[in-house]
Amino acid sequence: MDLGLKGKKAIVCAASKGLGRACAIALAREGVDLVITARTASELEATAAEIRALTGAKVIAVAGDITTEEGRAAALAACPEPDILVNNAGGPPRGDFRDWDRDMWIKAVDANMLTPIFLIKSVVDGMIARKFGRIVNITSGSVKSPIPELGMSNGARAGLTGFVAGLARQVAKHNVVINNILPGPFLTDRLRGGFQEAARASNRPVDELVQERAKGSPAGRVGDPAEFGDACAFLCSAKISFIVGQNLLLDGGAFNSSMS
Ligand code: NAP
Repeated sequence: MDLGLKGKKAIVCAASKGLGRACAIALAREGVDLVITARTASELEATAAEIRALTGAKVIAVAGDITTEEGRAAALAACPEPDILVNNAGGPPRGDFRDWDRDMWIKAVDANMLTPIFLIKSVVDGMIARKFGRIVNITSGSVKSPIPELGMSNGARAGLTGFVAGLARQVAKHNVVINNILPGPFLTDRLRGGFQEAARASNRPVDELVQERAKGSPAGRVGDPAEFGDACAFLCSAKISFIVGQNLLLDGGAFNSSMS
């Protein structure tokens, strides 16, 4: 299916690695020009070069912390009128909520709730005026099925989900659609890091833990970031303007429910 995205412009946040990178590649394959961001300039430049080589798309790398006003301003300066915005940032740390002080909470809410909200605020009126906009927020399966040790993620992302649910319904009539994708386990550096920590703590090989996690999933595997990217490109398609304010859970069926 032609997604109808040729010549569109996208900002993909936090995209040098993992899920953001996969979204950027999938959009570039559809002919979208990209601005990608991440904090580590060298890795971001390498990813930009890789995507140009893979797809021939125009890719501008804007190094910066997307959770800061400067980081967001730099991304928007490189692409002031995006047709597509993919919101993403690193996730908060694991732990026990008794150890989290106000500063840690504010950081988590900044990164995983307020950063996407302020980016949406910056671009949504232009999208309305141009009668086209696609916004995808990368959240987490933890919004639907909370992960106890990721309490800051559960909380901050649930706040974003609530806000988006309302806004998506205010802007849909202008062909501006906002949806969220909720990743289950996808084998990125972040997930690998989690497995490595657990392997050290339990004195077991990382591969064994990955296999164990895979067996617990109805799909019998963990997710490949590339398939996450494809789902993101689909939700950015010109053809999906009736899919509004949805939370698409990509977890291989792990969330056990008759209806999602
Ligand atoms: P990842 O492999 O660690 O990649 C994170 C990417 O984001 C990197 O490019 C990183 O580059 C960039 N980044 C992090 N913080 C940033 C910031 N403040 N400003 C700009 N760029 C930033 O992580 P991932 O697995 O793709 O996860 C992406 C998001 O999905 C996270 O919020 C994570 O919690 C969530 N998630 C992931 C999974 C999973 O299974 N992978 C499951 C549920 C939820 P720099 O470090 O150079 O900035």
